Amino acid sequence: MTQSIKLGKISGIPINVHWSFFLIILYFLYEGWQNNLSPIDLIWLVGFILVLFSCVLLHELGHSFAARRYGIGTEDITLLPIGGLARLQGMPKKPTQEMVVAIMGPMVNVVIAALLGLFFWLTPYGFIEPLNAMDETKGLLVNPSNFLPLLLLINITLVLFNCIPAFPMDGGRVLRALLAIPMNRVKATRIASLIGQIFAVGFIAVYFLYPGHSPFLILIGLFIFVAAGSEYKMVKREAALEGSTVRDVMRTQFTELSEESALEDAMESLTNSKEAAFLVTGRVSDYERNVIGFVSKRGLKRALKTKQPDLIIRNITNKNLYRISPDIQLKKVYEDMTRYGIPIMPVYEEEALIGTIDYYQIHDFIK
Ligand SMILES: [Zn+2]
Repeated sequence: MTQSIKLGKISGIPINVHWSFFLIILYFLYEGWQNNLSPIDLIWLVGFILVLFSCVLLHELGHSFAARRYGIGTEDITLLPIGGLARLQGMPKKPTQEMVVAIMGPMVNVVIAALLGLFFWLTPYGFIEPLNAMDETKGLLVNPSNFLPLLLLINITLVLFNCIPAFPMDGGRVLRALLAIPMNRVKATRIASLIGQIFAVGFIAVYFLYPGHSPFLILIGLFIFVAAGSEYKMVKREAALEGSTVRDVMRTQFTELSEESALEDAMESLTNSKEAAFLVTGRVSDYERNVIGFVSKRGLKRALKTKQPDLIIRNITNKNLYRISPDIQLKKVYEDMTRYGIPIMPVYEEEALIGTIDYYQIHDFIK
């Protein structure tokens, strides 16, 4: 979220506003102006949008504080035109805890709605009449008499909307957590995200089939569709990485290139093998050779393009070699490879080279 404006911090959590948030303010100002609203009316309208988004912010803080109880921090909260987004550092893997984190957001809106309801119950202020009167002004004319009734109505709408089991919306997260009790988390996420995508298509269809709905329905539909898909991929990848060690995935058949050979000698390996990089060996004695580094396929291709006749493998060998043991967690290796841009690592057991692990291979494994 680089295109965001920092607002400040609440209880250590950075609060940001995405620039596109201001587009909805402009959109409503334009709509109000088109409907002949006075400057005072426009101020009330903008004021209402700001209070509404404060409710959205409190909703996101509900998720964050619930997650904090389970030791999970929040990177930041960003307000977008389609709602808020709390980036939690993770999700509790226990279904019951995930359910609590998902429910505590809408619960905040339930509390706000209940407080407002209590207010209307205990005071003589009318709730229904101001809302009915508002219908005649296309819902844009916010004023002191309908401000709170409207806020109550919108908080109820937020709760109902979030209850729709469209993963990764809150209701969908509860669904995933429920599914994860009888089945494994990956399968539960797959089903929940499929259901989420069906809802997403439904939202978009509703917009086109029944005119008069807000265009935000399309935005929300697109967001859910993409987010459901990417969240499923992430869960699948995490699960595959977490349960495996290098030994489960490593190649025991791998290509070795000798440092004295010409680049052209590697041509066959370049086209026929699926390895991301090759180990390079050097001569230690008449009887012994040692692994001294690696060349990546990409580096090899680049060198071949230069067409320098005297270039040999030694000239393009990368000597930053990280030896690893076969019992290391795959997750750690994958993280290091991505972070430091290492395409291959030789696997050693008791000083003997027993295999290699490379980036493509892990990718194939978690696909
Ligand atoms: Zn939520």
